[in-house]
Amino acid sequence: MDMQTHSTFSDGRDSIADNVAAAERAGISRLTCTDHVRRDTDYLPDYVAEIRRVREGTDVEITCGIEAKVLDTSGALDVPDELPDGIEALYAADHQVATPDGPRKPDEIKERIESGELEAGQVLEWIVGATEATVRRYDAVVICHLFSVLPKLGIAEDDVPLELIESLADAAAERGAKIEIDERWSCPSARTIRPFVERGVPLFLSTDSHRSDTIGQYEYALEVLRELSDQ
Ligand SMILES: [Zn+2]
Repeated sequence: MDMQTHSTFSDGRDSIADNVAAAERAGISRLTCTDHVRRDTDYLPDYVAEIRRVREGTDVEITCGIEAKVLDTSGALDVPDELPDGIEALYAADHQVATPDGPRKPDEIKERIESGELEAGQVLEWIVGATEATVRRYDAVVICHLFSVLPKLGIAEDDVPLELIESLADAAAERGAKIEIDERWSCPSARTIRPFVERGVPLFLSTDSHRSDTIGQYEYALEVLRELSDQ
């Protein structure tokens, strides 16, 4: 499988048809399109129609997803108010830090932690709590490259309290959400993933490809799987 890929509909280099052809060559049988959206995105009807068209000519099972950032601790996603029929998965991403007052740039939060104005523990509660709120608020959420924002804040993934991760995993199990291992961002770690696996949350592998020639090429994700199966 490759459950996160980007095309020319957002910031990918290649078309959806090119990505699917590359998936066929790589022996991938399940592929998810996850182009980036924002509140004012207007390409979604064309996107859904193009995925339907490409499905006709392939045996690859294609899911029509979109990726958007978590905006704040209410769990709101940066998506248009009305989504067209045919959107099957919402990828909830930590592209910025979701605070009670909306998204903040990682640089700004890092400075506020360094100056002592904010505690790293508080920021982690916001990030994980906001993601949990998203999982509870929307159907069909995939937790996307969880903790990719932490290196930009100078926080190690190992420093996230396990209780926070377990609370998110509980919500994911209750709501039928999924979690991915993201090759491009090399996260989350086996330690983060384990509580999800223990609760039966489906685990996706994603390259997060922005070009067709990296689709289905894994190293980091396989290491995490090996670490999980060693336990
Ligand atoms: Zn992303």
